Amino acid sequence: MDERGKMRDYTQEILELIRLTSTDLPSQVEERLNKAMENENAGSAARAALETILKNIKMTRKNSTPICQDTGTPIFFVHSTDSIDTAALTRQIREAIALATQKSYLRPNAVDSITGKNTGNNLGDEYFPSIHFQQSAEGDFSIDLILKGGGCENVGAQYALPNDELQAGRDLEGVRKAALDAVFRAQGEGCAPGFLGIGIGGDRGTSYAASKQVMLREPDDHNADAELDQLEDRILTEANELGIGPMGFGGKTTLLGAKVTSTYRLPASFFVSVSYMCWAYRHHKMVIKNDEITYL
Ligand code: SF4
Repeated sequence: MDERGKMRDYTQEILELIRLTSTDLPSQVEERLNKAMENENAGSAARAALETILKNIKMTRKNSTPICQDTGTPIFFVHSTDSIDTAALTRQIREAIALATQKSYLRPNAVDSITGKNTGNNLGDEYFPSIHFQQSAEGDFSIDLILKGGGCENVGAQYALPNDELQAGRDLEGVRKAALDAVFRAQGEGCAPGFLGIGIGGDRGTSYAASKQVMLREPDDHNADAELDQLEDRILTEANELGIGPMGFGGKTTLLGAKVTSTYRLPASFFVSVSYMCWAYRHHKMVIKNDEITYL
C-alpha cells in the first residue's frame, strides 16, 4: 500500500514473472531432463530428442526468448492477504499479459472459441488468462504462474471410477490404473517426457483444477501423505516401464514426475483427473514480503 492506502502497482514485476516463466525453465525440471538424457542409450532417437530439448533450454534462457513456440495458457494462482485489492491486481495481471505479448515473451494465444478471432494480446474474457485467488492462511502474498501448453492439455483425461474397462475401483489402486491409462493413451503426444498432476475427488471442475494446482509443488519434493507419496513413485516407475519414451520415440523416459492430491467428493462420485504437463514445465513464483520481491 502507498501512503494514500492505494495498492502498489505490480505490473512491471508481474511482467518479469511472465518473462522468467516463458524463457527460463526451472532448474529441477532441467536436472530431471539431464538425468533422463544420460539414462537413454547413446545414438538412440530418445537421447537425441532430449539433447535437442536441453540445448534449446540453455539457448532460450541466454537469449530471453520463449522455450516453446506455444507459450501456453497463462494460469495464475494468487495467495493474497486482506490488504490486497483483488480487482486492482487482476487489472495489473492483465496489463502485464498484454505487455508480455507486445514484447514477444508470449505468443498471441487467446482465440474466440466461436469466431476463431485472435485478440492479439492474450486477453480474452474473465477466464483468459486464468486467475485463481486464494486467501493465504499464513498471511503471505505470492503469485505463481504456470504456462500450460495446448498439446499437453489435449492429452489430459478424466475418469469416473469405478471403470469396468480398466478394472479400476474407487481406491488408490484404481487411481494408479487411471493415471497409467492416461499416459498409455497419450503415446508420447503432448511432448513427453513430462509431469502428471493427478486430482482425486471433487466435482468434475474442481477435480481438474486440483490436478493443475498440485503442479505448483516442486518436482523434487515429497507428498506429505505417505500413501500418496508411494503412489507418486509407483506411477512414475511404471509409466517409464511402458517404453513410450521422449516424444513417443521409445526409450526409458516417458514421465519425469507425478504429483497427486485429493479433495472431498460426494458419495456418488469418484473422479480422477489427470493433467499432463509437457517437458516445457514452465512455472515460476513471485513472493512479496515487506514490499520486497523474490522470484523462485
Ligand atoms: S505441449 Fe509443450 S512442448 Fe509441446 S508444443 Fe505445446 S507447449 Fe510446446
